[in-house]
Amino acid sequence: MSVHRWKGRYVKKNVKEMLLKRSEMAKELAKNKREKQKLKEVENASSYPVKGIRLIDLEYLSESMYCSKCTEKLFVQDIENETITGAASKFHVRCHKCSIHSGLGQTKIDQLFTVMGLPKFNVHIFKDHERIIAPVIELVAKESCEEATALERTITEENVDSLKNLL
Ligand SMILES: [Zn+2]
Repeated sequence: MSVHRWKGRYVKKNVKEMLLKRSEMAKELAKNKREKQKLKEVENASSYPVKGIRLIDLEYLSESMYCSKCTEKLFVQDIENETITGAASKFHVRCHKCSIHSGLGQTKIDQLFTVMGLPKFNVHIFKDHERIIAPVIELVAKESCEEATALERTITEENVDSLKNLL
């Protein structure tokens, strides 16, 4: 009888064959699972990002759906992401006018939770997301300031003669 080894153990030939077959089946199952997961990700990426049923106060939602930067009205179709905490959802909406994410502030969410009789969510969750978005807002604000400065310079240069007459 020849000696067979399987993961450091001595096993009979038929046991090793069975273990090998089982290992190959497990690898095949894992591969299928990965492929299914990839397909699911592709499906999700190509469709609406937020799905399902939510418990929503429509009056509150309609009052809150404005961009915090430019006060442009936001649309439900512009919701790009969602943070779910318990029974509450925080929608991340990209403003179609200034392309800045907007959302409900923690104070507003706390007020909503109080009305709904839900516990307040952890302040760290809000802060974590603020830290993610703050650099983007800073970048957009900086670019906006630079554009405004360049525009002011151009207008001043174009009207330098009339400005001299005024002074
Ligand atoms: Zn905006």
